[in-house]
Amino acid sequence: VSAPHVLTLAYHLLSESWPPPLGISESTLRSHLGLLQQRGYVGLTFGEAERRRRLGELPDRTVVITFDDGYASTLRAREILADYGYRGTVFVATDFVDSGEPFSWPGLELPSGSPSLSQLASLTWPECRALLESGWEIGSHTTEHGRLTDLEDEILRDHLERSRARIVEELGSCDTVAYPYGQADRRVAKAAAEAGYVAGCTCSARHDVDEPLRRPRINLSGSDTGVRLRVQLSPLTERVRRTELIRLAWILRRGRSWTPRDE
Ligand SMILES: [Zn+2]
Repeated sequence: VSAPHVLTLAYHLLSESWPPPLGISESTLRSHLGLLQQRGYVGLTFGEAERRRRLGELPDRTVVITFDDGYASTLRAREILADYGYRGTVFVATDFVDSGEPFSWPGLELPSGSPSLSQLASLTWPECRALLESGWEIGSHTTEHGRLTDLEDEILRDHLERSRARIVEELGSCDTVAYPYGQADRRVAKAAAEAGYVAGCTCSARHDVDEPLRRPRINLSGSDTGVRLRVQLSPLTERVRRTELIRLAWILRRGRSWTPRDE
């Protein structure tokens, strides 16, 4: 029996001025959502999809729309998703929610032309609560966005546990994690399970086993090549479904480069 395939998409910053790979414009996001809606994709949060997978109750075509880091613009993304009947999952870096400092970590490079740095502001806890109340899921993106595969065991555990504890404290529950930089090896996945997460997602290409703590995602704000994307979509899906998903992913990805950017 083949496992049902969930199309899980990863976005970051909704912005008219911040270029890819971090930024995506409203019109591009709308083109993605319109296509998904047109093709009959049912939107679930990441946690819901995991629960329904376990119950064997996944819709025939499921899309999980996720936003990493927790940019304040995710509130605007909520409005846009709602226009298409979708809800999302946002993975927040809790130290930044707590401090109110703009996001800053290795690899978060400022583009030329310097669009306003205020775009790197985090969601606040009241904003997270508002998202939750409108049907979104708030998951963890750890505390400070460290590269987990490089951290010593004890620090790794601390980042995973403390982040989850803060979200539980503020919002009542936290079942899922998106690993910073999309990276999790077996040690990281094991630590996440031990920290109480039920499911986790990477931005990796396909994984060989059916593993709740390392679900793959398609990073639509990233720079994956088409070849890598094909591989990512390939495992354990029937031929027709696979063809459909590959075609869809190609259209979504190409759509971004068709969209002129405001400067
Ligand atoms: Zn991130």
